[in-house]
Amino acid sequence: MTTATDLETTLLGPVLADRSCGDCTACCTVLQVDSPDFRKPAGVACVHLGAAGCGIHPVRPKICRIWFCVWRRVAALPDAARPDRSGLLVSVNFVADAQNCFEGVSINIRLLPGSRAIEDGMAATVLDRLCDGLVPVWFSDGEHKMLMHPDNEVAGHVVDGTPAPSRLADEVAAWRGLYGPFAS
Ligand code: SF4
Ligand code: SF4
Repeated sequence: MTTATDLETTLLGPVLADRSCGDCTACCTVLQVDSPDFRKPAGVACVHLGAAGCGIHPVRPKICRIWFCVWRRVAALPDAARPDRSGLLVSVNFVADAQNCFEGVSINIRLLPGSRAIEDGMAATVLDRLCDGLVPVWFSDGEHKMLMHPDNEVAGHVVDGTPAPSRLADEVAAWRGLYGPFAS
């Protein structure tokens, strides 16, 4: 979790009024929290997380009040994609030491341990709903991650600056307009 929530709203829109976390507490375990008043490592349950959810909910840290996963913001994702139901935690990632121009700000679809989202098709559904704009989308199992959007051919032209074939020219130009300055 980060505190760059204004950028998340710019990229994805506001938190949806008709979506709630319900019994989901995935982010309280899966994610690293690095905020001024609260830190926890990734993959470790928060010390305040109990069987009934957050044990300090009325006074939880600010980051926990203002941060929401992508499922809470994107209506195109089905109810069944809620992280505790799907085993997919989708978040906006900010990487300070990005390896390429598509990593600095991106959507990350994380496959949680035990998830059957690949087998039951939910991973494909989530990818379909999110890979439709000019925000890079990665898919990860928590250790390794793959760039899913844009596809490899488009990404290569954006990163290398090589001329794109006419069938890809408009798409490559659109990505380069936003991410080209960060490609070198
Ligand atoms: S992962 Fe999303 S739905 Fe689950 S508790 Fe966190 S913000 Fe709520
Ligand atoms: S303080 Fe509460 S809401 Fe925040 S990570 Fe811990 S359990 Fe979750």
